[in-house]
Amino acid sequence: MNLVTCKLCGRLFSATRGKICVTCLDEIDDLYPKVREFLRDHSKEKYNVEQIANGMDLDIRYVQALVELGYLDRGVGADPEAEEEKRRKEALARQLQASLENSASTKLPETMGKMYGQQRYGTGKKK
Ligand SMILES: [Zn+2]
Repeated sequence: MNLVTCKLCGRLFSATRGKICVTCLDEIDDLYPKVREFLRDHSKEKYNVEQIANGMDLDIRYVQALVELGYLDRGVGADPEAEEEKRRKEALARQLQASLENSASTKLPETMGKMYGQQRYGTGKKK
């Protein structure tokens, strides 16, 4: 297993999807709608990563991660609904992947249940 240090929280995790751990990816997923809302509220102004971080009182590294992961770059000025839909699908796919990886290493029944729930949620949302 290839362990790396998460660039956001500094914890060691098995590097399967880049340099950010699953926990932080979850937080970023959480953060994204809020940042987008913030940008929508301030659409008259141009915002960069630093200004978003300051304006929302966030850790700038998380805002940077949003950009690096492709959340923000296209989100700003693009059709928010289409972006949201696309992001959601990608996030679900990633969460599912993460759950599979988690359950493979821990084998907790709880994790299995959660994974199943996400799977059902994922297919249920699809039209
Ligand atoms: Zn992390």
